Amino acid sequence: MTAHTIKIGIPGAAGRMGRMLIREIDAALDLELVAASDRAGIDAIGKDSGLLAGTGSNGVIIGDDAAALAAADVIIDFTSPTASVAHAGIASSSNTALVVGTTGLTDEDEASLRAAADGIALVYCANTSVGVTLLGKLVEQVAAQLVDGWDIEILEAHHHHKVDAPSGTALALGEAAARGRGVKLDDVADMVRKGQTGARRTGDIGFAVLRGGDVTGEHSVIFYGDSERVEISHRATDRAIFARGALRAARFASGAGTGFYNMEDVLAG
Ligand code: NAD
Repeated sequence: MTAHTIKIGIPGAAGRMGRMLIREIDAALDLELVAASDRAGIDAIGKDSGLLAGTGSNGVIIGDDAAALAAADVIIDFTSPTASVAHAGIASSSNTALVVGTTGLTDEDEASLRAAADGIALVYCANTSVGVTLLGKLVEQVAAQLVDGWDIEILEAHHHHKVDAPSGTALALGEAAARGRGVKLDDVADMVRKGQTGARRTGDIGFAVLRGGDVTGEHSVIFYGDSERVEISHRATDRAIFARGALRAARFASGAGTGFYNMEDVLAG
């Protein structure tokens, strides 16, 4: 380990992203896993987190008390909305930086994260991929240019385990398109179409959702014009991109001042 090793705590250590993060931390020279936790009662509790993640034993046992995460410099949370809010409380009271990648948070959950960020550096991002972060910037620019006569539709596809819809990324892309148009997404979002929907309302941003198989994550923002179409797409083929982006966010958070940051701040930092 180098003198500048950043100590990382992973809640949800038995989850798909938790295990991926542990593998990526194992491969990083400047990061050290110091704590791993998960829900009480699951099989993974008491197991070596490295063995579970497939890196070989690392001596960090998965516990059911998230308070142990306070030993870290940065907690990286990919769990569930309720758990992320609880972990933000632990990070805040122990003065530990936090990266949250969990999706499906309510406005109230997000407000809790913002409140926690009064005292710590907190990065919250529904998609930690570098490519998707750039996609959002492109979508905002294109939406600002293609206005009259252009309809915006957002299509996303994910694996069959995913529990929230539309994906946090699709919603963030919708926000980016709405920003480009100078409107509020809540006023123009069309989330569900079924039966006699009537004609498409001018200015709406439509969402469509596919679920199946092992799709890591696919997003397209389609601008339909008269006799032409512009499509901006991102396809993730390996979840490692989200973990690597989250580690980049953790490095940023470990050196950042108090505040609520997103992935654009991380890439700019
Ligand atoms: P998963 O179900 O495989 O893992 C979630 C883990 O969190 C599990 O181990 C579960 O036991 C744990 N957990 C759930 N509730 C808990 C609680 N109350 N207390 C403690 N632990 C709890 O899910 P996943 O595929 O790893 O995804 C996790 C989250 O990350 C989801 O919200 C997903 O949408 C999001 N995600 C975000 C990105 C991104 O780029 N930001 C990428 C992939 C997934």
